[in-house]
Amino acid sequence: MSNSTLDKRWPWLVAALAIIGLYVVTMDPDAGDGNSVANPRQLGSIDDISALAEREDLNVLFILIDTLRSDHLGSYGYERDTSPFLDELAENGILFKRHLSQSSWTKASMASMWTGINPWRTGVTSFDHIVPESAEMPAETLKDAGYRTVGIWRNGWVAPTFGFEQGFDVYNRPRPLGLRREVLAKKPTLKGGGNDEDIAASMIEFLRVQNDEKWFLYLHMMDVHEYTYDDISALFGSEYMDIYDNSIRWVDGTIRIMFEHLIDQGFGDNTIVVVTSDHGEAFNERGFEGHGRRVYKETTEVPLIVSLPFKLEQRLVVETRSRGIDVWPTVFELLGLSGPEEIDGRSLIPDVMAVGRGEAPPEADRIGYSHLNQNWGRREAEPQQTVAVSDGPLRYVRSFIGSQKIEDLFDASTDDAELQTLTATETETLDRLRALIDGRLEQNLAFGEHETREIGELELNQLRAIGYDVGGK
Ligand SMILES: [Zn+2]
Repeated sequence: MSNSTLDKRWPWLVAALAIIGLYVVTMDPDAGDGNSVANPRQLGSIDDISALAEREDLNVLFILIDTLRSDHLGSYGYERDTSPFLDELAENGILFKRHLSQSSWTKASMASMWTGINPWRTGVTSFDHIVPESAEMPAETLKDAGYRTVGIWRNGWVAPTFGFEQGFDVYNRPRPLGLRREVLAKKPTLKGGGNDEDIAASMIEFLRVQNDEKWFLYLHMMDVHEYTYDDISALFGSEYMDIYDNSIRWVDGTIRIMFEHLIDQGFGDNTIVVVTSDHGEAFNERGFEGHGRRVYKETTEVPLIVSLPFKLEQRLVVETRSRGIDVWPTVFELLGLSGPEEIDGRSLIPDVMAVGRGEAPPEADRIGYSHLNQNWGRREAEPQQTVAVSDGPLRYVRSFIGSQKIEDLFDASTDDAELQTLTATETETLDRLRALIDGRLEQNLAFGEHETREIGELELNQLRAIGYDVGGK
């Protein structure tokens, strides 16, 4: 036990669990080297993926790592070893290489992901908008299907008062265990208030009390958003982006511990684990830092990793475009459930099966949109809609500086960082992608009128404390 990762990182938890006599240690000769996980799950094949829909015992662990851009993970090609555990998860699972979030700000992005609807149709594009009651949320579908539904979140933008609690039996912030001294939070705007260890502790407690009921557990982690890490994960330096990478390494370790618990508690062979993010983070690539300002590559390309209740012999990498709005249709197909109809997203399982069988990708809608009301944080301001259209390696981005419209066109196949705009030369492509968005932003809202609510100063201050300039004119 003295060698386990858990013991090293969480002495308080080990002590607490040992005292109440509930912690059963599985001795693992590999534990503690930091490079391998106790993962006794059986091997499965591509055909076992379609067979999942027939099962009645599947749980869903949905891990949202706030503010995680995909190109900072090893499995997405990053040169730094920021994500050994997530890479391992991807190694025996499904990795979606070109996954796009539909906004670069939590609330808009999450509203789209949960509903499967593009942001301009969800009606959730401003700081005081709420997800309407008439929206059909995944937790509602799962609850109707007999799941126990629990959400643990640390980002105020997905608070129940914004409509995100729909369908959850329990929907809470975790109880803060107190920031340990050796855990550092470097985000200058951060005002404290716990870290993702609190979420992990809640999860461990949740697993401990489960019986045979199927469950859906949504964990919304914030330590990457808050640039939180500890001495062990401080591997990459002390510049702004280094600290971001340290925090990814830290959260990767936290998820490793959570996963080990999942296995230890006997949920390895009946739980689908989904890991994704709501948006990325900019590091001054083109004059912006952070997120929620524009919808270029760095704030909208995010990971999507699906770990099945068995290990695939080799990982499946889906190279075609996938989108946040596709996540839940995909999970529903895996579970054999029908989700809401008439949404913008679609299941990605046909793409997965094609990769697994070495076939060409099926015909499908793969145009990805990202959208942000640049005035989302301001009262009494007209919406100013920045939007990106992605088609294969091409991306058209339209944004505003003041009232001046800026257009960009990038081709990632020759310009991976998407810094060379081709608007002057590739005019035909420009016209084609432009035409894909023209007229769309005027589409009807999916759930009727915008619903808003008054947000008090206290709550505004809590949102400002996690780094948002919100509620001004
Ligand atoms: Zn976020």
